[in-house]
Amino acid sequence: MSKNIVSICPVCGGEVVIKKVEKLIRRGRDVLIVQVEAGVCTKCGEHIYDLETQELFQRLRQGESLFPAFHLHRIGYAYEVIPG
Ligand SMILES: [Zn+2]
Repeated sequence: MSKNIVSICPVCGGEVVIKKVEKLIRRGRDVLIVQVEAGVCTKCGEHIYDLETQELFQRLRQGESLFPAFHLHRIGYAYEVIPG
């Protein structure tokens, strides 16, 4: 998986290292958190995902068709912050 990720950041030219990261995916009013491997730039912090991971994000955004391939576990609530 990691071999498909560039080693130089396309944004700033910094060094990219492979890390496990949490990606937040918005699906309508819901937020999904998924742990994936990403290239993370050591200089600017840019996250770079391989094609397979980008396709996973796309499937998660699309909704019902992903079940039952994934198990969703509720870990909290989402709040809208209203000023004042
Ligand atoms: Zn960078």
